[in-house]
Amino acid sequence: MPDNSPQQALFHHEEPAPQGPFVKVAIERGIDKLASGADTLTYRDPGLDLRPGDMVEAPLGKTAKVGGVVTQAGGPELLGHLSPAKVRPVLRKTGGRIPGSLLELATWLARYYASPLGMALATVTPSAVKKQTGKRTRKALEPTGAEPTERLPPKTREVWERISGLDREMFPVEHRVLAEAVGATSVGPLNRLVRLGLLREVVVERVTSRVRAPGGDAGVDVAPELTVAQREVVEGVCLALGGGLGGFGVHLLRGVTGSGKTEVYLRVIERALEGGKGAIVLVPEIALTPQTSGRFARRFVSHGVAVLHSGLSAAERHRQWAMIASGEARVVVGARSAVFAPVADLGVIVVDEEHDGSYKQDQAPRYNGRDVAIKRGQLEGATVVLGSATPSLESWANAHTHSDFWTLWELPDRVGGGVLPPVKIVDIKEEHRIAHSLGRKGRGAIGPTLAAALERTLKEGGQAILLMNRRGHSTYIGCASAACGWVLACDDCDASMVLHKDGRIRGGESLRCHHCQSEKLLPPACPVCSRGLIRLGFGIQRVEEELRGLVDLASDEVERVDSDTMRTAGHYFRVLDRFAKGDIRLLLGTQMIAKGLDFPNVRLVGVVNADTALSLPDFRAAERTFQLITQVAGRAGRAEHAGEVIVQTASPESDPIRAAARHDFLGFVRGEMSVRSACGLPPASRMARIVVRDQKAERAEAGAAALADLLVSLSPPGVRVQGPMPCTITRIADRFRWEVLLIAPRAGLIQRVLGEARARGELVSDARTAVDVDPVALM
Ligand code: ADP
Ligand code: ZN
Ligand code: ZN
Repeated sequence: MPDNSPQQALFHHEEPAPQGPFVKVAIERGIDKLASGADTLTYRDPGLDLRPGDMVEAPLGKTAKVGGVVTQAGGPELLGHLSPAKVRPVLRKTGGRIPGSLLELATWLARYYASPLGMALATVTPSAVKKQTGKRTRKALEPTGAEPTERLPPKTREVWERISGLDREMFPVEHRVLAEAVGATSVGPLNRLVRLGLLREVVVERVTSRVRAPGGDAGVDVAPELTVAQREVVEGVCLALGGGLGGFGVHLLRGVTGSGKTEVYLRVIERALEGGKGAIVLVPEIALTPQTSGRFARRFVSHGVAVLHSGLSAAERHRQWAMIASGEARVVVGARSAVFAPVADLGVIVVDEEHDGSYKQDQAPRYNGRDVAIKRGQLEGATVVLGSATPSLESWANAHTHSDFWTLWELPDRVGGGVLPPVKIVDIKEEHRIAHSLGRKGRGAIGPTLAAALERTLKEGGQAILLMNRRGHSTYIGCASAACGWVLACDDCDASMVLHKDGRIRGGESLRCHHCQSEKLLPPACPVCSRGLIRLGFGIQRVEEELRGLVDLASDEVERVDSDTMRTAGHYFRVLDRFAKGDIRLLLGTQMIAKGLDFPNVRLVGVVNADTALSLPDFRAAERTFQLITQVAGRAGRAEHAGEVIVQTASPESDPIRAAARHDFLGFVRGEMSVRSACGLPPASRMARIVVRDQKAERAEAGAAALADLLVSLSPPGVRVQGPMPCTITRIADRFRWEVLLIAPRAGLIQRVLGEARARGELVSDARTAVDVDPVALM
């Protein structure tokens, strides 16, 4: 073996040289701070037979131990200029091995989202898996493969013959189970076979958890016959499901709510399974109800369906993960992070409601599950299906320009000839005038038109869903005296606090900041002038009070659904159950209720205030408003009853609201796309946003200014740098916030500029600096 390193001279030529093996390890905490520019550290393999993907613990600095993942294994060539004597050994293996394809995906994730490799690798594996939560080891038996060389006693021979007749698939198997399988009354004969060398004892690992994920109702469901339109999509998508790298393609399925998209997913997955391939289905966290996951679980009982969402215990998450890794489950239904599920031989990835903002992770690495799904499909030759009634403008644009591997499919009609419900826009200012003329005092959140429709629907035995997308009771507390003008704001944020009614605390009311989550009690009077306080602005709790006074329903027939009442997934599932049974007649909720629910008796959908999203200073405000109204409107009239939708707004002329009322996706997209193009905003461009946070305003500004200068100096022509400028919310959690935007015609240019800045050690992802590639929230 060639080796000219000077150290060689120190050893006698017959002594073994310290040639390793050596490994490169990506340290989990992210080693941006090590300022080496490299993403990995080098260690010696102390005989653990380490391979790329192995999760390990390694020493760092004088005393620290850190988790990491082996990215490369080899000989002295990994050392570079390091002296072998200085290279310390890995301490131990901690978990399983990340498959090669996921290692590659993590590498891409780190580069694309400008994040340390260790952080990207940590994202690919849930911590319950790294910590092996819930793992138990048991002893089990398996045949050694040897044949008896001597005559066996009759009883033992009988047991041995039965064992030989068993399916090889069932080994290794626990003693007791094997004894039962061969009809032995004790494990005695088995132990004899072990002593004779015919069976051997092995240790098997199993993951157990006490609380299981809800699997949906038992039973198998029968697939309906596809409609002509559905069949065309299924056949078209499956053409590409050939296998090998040829299987990659992205299919954007735009289908109105209730058009049978889910049935299309099910059929495509069925084909993949028939071909021996596995599948991942991503759904927005909140849509991960037993209603959705149960549909997949029932259809694919025999292939095994794993469910992954944030409501699982660590042990249950690990158990589901282990089922996937072992191949016991070939279909995974899960929220964002399920895109990293270790499904072998992946055939299909479905991303339902692909436009949904919850696919974006709001901590580093700030990845978008939908975009990772596309990359994973490309790396593993899998077919990617993106479905939505309201595709994101990004996907819509991709489907029209990258036509080499993007295909657009449409399901314009509801299954069974159902029509989309008529949507009525009501001007809330006009409603207030009418209410006033009817002699009503004060300004309620529910105008006369919506109130009348609600009364009619309930009287006729129907159910109703109302959307109010703002948490809390009153959104603004201030001094009653306009001359004083005091407004209650969060101490640590540049934002007003929201009054929440909360039966669990004394006084029943508290103030909460929706940005830093801090809480405080309501002061008895204005701290400046001692006059009384007034409560303005409607939150969902206040709307609930108004509704309960308005409708003639028992108190448990009305239910509010928001993140305050639905503390766990279990709460939410129970409410949906009661709604499905008809025990709840009126459901009032935040956007939690806008997605995926399919209840046939919902005859009225009301949007209490369509302007909450519209008024946000974000270039996607119109798009979000259009999506939200369209989605929630889709909850109405899903069966024989004609549905009805009422949208209350102070901007009845606004484009997204009018387009949603006409069910006019194409019209909306045409208008909105031309606005984006004119302003050079995504999807007409690509964007990265960097926010610098600091307790001192000047330091935040100076940091952002230095970053902007750096990015300008690195940017090729065509790349724009905007800023430094203060963020919309200038301070959160006692940190001032300044931002810089990088805007480029192509994603590759963004990666080049950010990659160069990172390589120089001048752009570091840490508590102070947040890098967000393809941002979805710009506050
Ligand atoms: P989407 O996902 O587009 O909202 P779904 O797949 O949930 O639509 O379908 C809406 C309803 O129509 C569901 O109740 C589903 O069971 C039913 N459905 C879907 N496809 C068919 C079909 N081909 N024949 C009969 N019913 C169908
Ligand atoms: Zn705050
Ligand atoms: Zn005052």
